[in-house]
Amino acid sequence: MISPEDSRFDREHIWHPYTSMTDPLPVFPVKAASGVKIMLDSGQELIDGMSSWWAAIHGYNHPVLNKALTRQLEQMSHVMFGGLTHKPAIELCRLLVKSTPAGLDKVFLCDSGSVSVEVALKMALQFQHARGYPKKQRILTIRGGYHGDTFHAMSVCDPVTGMHALFTASLPRQLFCHRPECRFDEEWQPADIDEAATLLAHNHHEIAAVILEPIVQGAGGMWFYHPRYLQELRKLCDQYGVLLIFDEIATGFGRTGKLFAAEHAGVTPDIFCLGKAITGGYMTLAATMATDEVAKVISKGSPGLFMHGPTFMANPLACAVALASIQLLLADDWQKKIAQIRRQLQQELAPALAFPGVQDVRVLGAIGVIEMTEQVHMAKLQDFFVERGVWIRPFGHLIYLMPPYIIHADELTTLTTAAVEAAQLAQGLPATAT
Ligand SMILES: *Cc1c(COP(=O)(O)O)cnc(C)c1O
Repeated sequence: MISPEDSRFDREHIWHPYTSMTDPLPVFPVKAASGVKIMLDSGQELIDGMSSWWAAIHGYNHPVLNKALTRQLEQMSHVMFGGLTHKPAIELCRLLVKSTPAGLDKVFLCDSGSVSVEVALKMALQFQHARGYPKKQRILTIRGGYHGDTFHAMSVCDPVTGMHALFTASLPRQLFCHRPECRFDEEWQPADIDEAATLLAHNHHEIAAVILEPIVQGAGGMWFYHPRYLQELRKLCDQYGVLLIFDEIATGFGRTGKLFAAEHAGVTPDIFCLGKAITGGYMTLAATMATDEVAKVISKGSPGLFMHGPTFMANPLACAVALASIQLLLADDWQKKIAQIRRQLQQELAPALAFPGVQDVRVLGAIGVIEMTEQVHMAKLQDFFVERGVWIRPFGHLIYLMPPYIIHADELTTLTTAAVEAAQLAQGLPATAT
């Protein structure tokens, strides 16, 4: 139980993500979480609509994942990965190589999504240097992206929402083109790739790689775009000696209806970032995967090795739970579950489209988005959702759902009902039951 004194301490001493220390938004004390429920100290139970930011795909406190973790704990919780190796890392990497798009055969394990993006960008620079193109140092990306909070990852996030103006002197200056405007399920518009093609044609001598989130831009705006864009980019990258990096940290492990979003396009990138759901939301772990070619060129160049090695690289507890989580996903008919969630989201979020304050409603896989015309009032909506017994955390113009895959239809209805009511409330109309 969190005492009033604990709450005071939290408010005065502990940073939460993207918050002020002088004017923080309220935080809700959590006692436990199990299945799709988050239990607050107050005794209230919330149905989870966020999967703790894409991660908890099997829900919380899962017996299979708990067992994998405790079993590994009895063997060892950690050993350094320099000069040593272990079964949990080997088995996890074997499964990653097998289940990711063909050609991604080399795995670098690291601590978090942002670090896996740093690793990917460093690989790209070392690759170009090693093959005699040291001038290829810049990265091309699309606006509206999100790739993490460390400096190089930040440099490829959307320059406006990523507040690049605050950090200009320290941030590498990257190249940006508009996000693909052609929606996932619309007819492909060839002009969508023109700006990227022009930027590559003019600047390829200084571009090391293109990085983007395939199909779904997550925290940068929850935008779903056409798979053909990735196919066109693949051709352009090959033409200009530029590496293609897919950041699948949010989209990986089934969320978009394919195991990896790259499969919608049938494209294999040169470098591939994984994180978030990789451990089923149990602990922090990420991976950067690369083709044989990338690994070989880096290893044959100077200094003959890849310049990265985190202290907690390949942590055995994280590897063991990641292995169990991916096996659990693959052993199940996960496509069917995601398709059911998709159909229900489509049906139950659609009524929001009738409200004047709603700009767009879109669904892909197990992701449902209501985009408002105005920014939402985060604190007010947060209280509204908790009152309704759901955990939904809107940001900017977006009210969105990405529940654990184990959610039941009636629980999902509770989430969609609350989201639709909130969309009505947010435009100042009296909220009625839908
Ligand atoms: C969350 C996220 C990251 C950063 O991962 P962290 O584990 O928060 O560092 C990078 N890229 C994408 C697409 C993400 O969604």
